[in-house]
Amino acid sequence: VLILGIETSCDETAAAVVADGREILSNVVSSQVEIHRRFGGVVPEVASRKHLEMLNPVIDLALKGAGVSLGDLDAVAVTQGPGLLGSLLVGLMVAKSLAFVLRLPLIAVHHIRAHVYANFLAHPRVNFPFVALVVSGGHTDLIYATSHSDFRLIGRTKDDAAGEAFDKVARFLGLGYPGGPAIERKARQGDPTAFPLPRLHTSGDFDTSFSGLKTAVIYRWRQAQERGEKVRVEDVAASFQATVVEILEEKAFAAVRAFKVPTLLLAGGVAANGHLRERFATRAQAEGVKLLLPPPVLCTDNAAMVAAAAYYQFLRGDFAPLTVSADAGLPLS
Ligand code: ATP
Ligand code: MG
Ligand code: FE
Repeated sequence: VLILGIETSCDETAAAVVADGREILSNVVSSQVEIHRRFGGVVPEVASRKHLEMLNPVIDLALKGAGVSLGDLDAVAVTQGPGLLGSLLVGLMVAKSLAFVLRLPLIAVHHIRAHVYANFLAHPRVNFPFVALVVSGGHTDLIYATSHSDFRLIGRTKDDAAGEAFDKVARFLGLGYPGGPAIERKARQGDPTAFPLPRLHTSGDFDTSFSGLKTAVIYRWRQAQERGEKVRVEDVAASFQATVVEILEEKAFAAVRAFKVPTLLLAGGVAANGHLRERFATRAQAEGVKLLLPPPVLCTDNAAMVAAAAYYQFLRGDFAPLTVSADAGLPLS
C-alpha cells in the first residue's frame, strides 16, 4: 500500500511517500525557519502563503524521490489538525484535489497521532498497549493507547507546551529561533546546578505546566542582574533544560506505572533533545521499561509520520469525505 502524506500544520511544508506504513520511500521537508526567524516565531499569514507556494514542488520532489508516479498511489493522507488554520487549509485543499482527480481515498490525519507514528517507522515492532509522550511546539500530551483505534489523552499542559517554553526562554535569553536547538547547544557548556530553578511539579495527575518555570527563569535572571551577580547564559540554559526534562520524566514514568504498560514512546520536536533522550534512556533501563524514540529527523514535523499513521486508518477503511474541513483544535479522541 503506497500512501502520499502531506503535512502543512505549522511552518514546514512536507510530503512523503511511505509503503505499508513502514518503509519511507521519500520524505521531503521544506522548512520556513529562515523566513520566520526574523520575526522570532511563526507568522501564520506568512506560513500559509509559503505553503501555497511550496507544496506542489515539494510533492513533486517526494514522488520523484520515491520513484513513483501519481498513478501508483493507493491513498492520499493529509494533516487535518490541530495546527494553524490557514496552513492546514492549504494541505487539505491540495490533498482533496489529488484524491478527487485520482479517485483515491482521502485520509484525514490527526497531527499529534502522526507524531506518535514516527515510532512505527523507526522500529520494526511497536506493541500495544503503550504510553506515549508527545512533546512539541504546541503540545505536551500524555497518551494511553491500547490499539490503533484507541488513543486516550491522559494528560496535557495546563499552560505552555514544553517546546513553547524552550522557544520563549530562548527568545528571552537572546538565543534566537527556534529555541529548542539553541538552548540545547548552549546547555552543553553549562552547569545545570549553577542557576537553581524551582521544581514546580503539578502533583496527582498527568498534566504539566511550564509557564511558571519560564517566569522563574526571567525573574531570577533579572534579580541576578540587579544584584550585579554574574550569570552565564550557558548555566541558565542547562538548568532550564534539566528542569523541563525532569518534569517530563516524572510525569511520563508515573503514567507508565499507573497504566501498567511495558512500553513508553516519545515523539514531537522536543524529543529530538539529546539531554532528554539520554535521561529517558537511563530511567527506562533502571525501571525495566521499553523506551522507543524516533530518530531526531522524525521527531520534528514531517509527512512520513502522516503517511504512517494513515496506513492504519487505510486498513480499517477510515476515510474522509471530500467535504472534510480543517480543524485547528481537532481533539485526539
Ligand atoms: P505541534 O506538533 O504541537 O503542532 P509543532 O508541529 O510546531 O507543534 P514540532 O515541529 O513537533 O512542533 O516541534 C517543534 C518544537 O520542538 C519547537 O518548540 C522547538 O523549539 C522544539 N525543539 C526542536 N528541537 C529541539 C531540541 N533539540 N531540544 C528542545 N526542543 C527542541
Ligand atoms: Mg515547525
Ligand atoms: Fe508537530
